Amino acid sequence: MKIIILLVIIGLGILIYYLFFRKKMALLIIDVQNDFCPGGTLAVTDGDSIIEPTNKLIRLFQSNKKIVIYSRDWHPLGTTHFKCDENPDGWPVHCVGGTKGAEFKNGLIVPLNANIVSKGMGNGENAYSAFDPGARISGMDLNTFLKNKRVDTLLVCGLATDYCVKDTVLDAKKLGYNVIVVQECIRAVNIEPNDGEKAIAEMKNAGAIIPEKIF
Ligand SMILES: [Zn+2]
Repeated sequence: MKIIILLVIIGLGILIYYLFFRKKMALLIIDVQNDFCPGGTLAVTDGDSIIEPTNKLIRLFQSNKKIVIYSRDWHPLGTTHFKCDENPDGWPVHCVGGTKGAEFKNGLIVPLNANIVSKGMGNGENAYSAFDPGARISGMDLNTFLKNKRVDTLLVCGLATDYCVKDTVLDAKKLGYNVIVVQECIRAVNIEPNDGEKAIAEMKNAGAIIPEKIF
């Protein structure tokens, strides 16, 4: 019990430190879209359970005038990213741009003027990472967008831990960002049962800070 309380205090301490003493922080929310949530074509178990804690972070960032960025898969229908003759190991059809499945999950706070990075728009692009060179936010790649805003620290949450969250975090570390991953606000696909845990270990090894608890 004492250890849990200590971990919560450490988690809160890290968050408060970054929010109030590191001025150049952004919240990056990965792919909280209908198709990745229960009822979707590529649903992550309990994917929608991250919405409530993620909304808390969004409100916290909005009230502190910090940047909030949403990434989304935005695929063409005929991409070889999907299972097809050329790619029998591809994914089920998901998040086709402009369809209901690609919309952000109901309940997630998304302002009308939200900063959105769309990825996987080219044929055959997996674009798990929001930093994929083909991904676009306001007509530029995410790294350029963040550099223009002088962001040096990212708080990352979203779906799924073992794919898009992991690849985004690894790219962010390679690009030199400070990265904190919020465990309460991520969920894994877990094609193999330990994929989520392995992804967390990999992100930590790359230098990401991943507190056991923040709330
Ligand atoms: Zn995809």
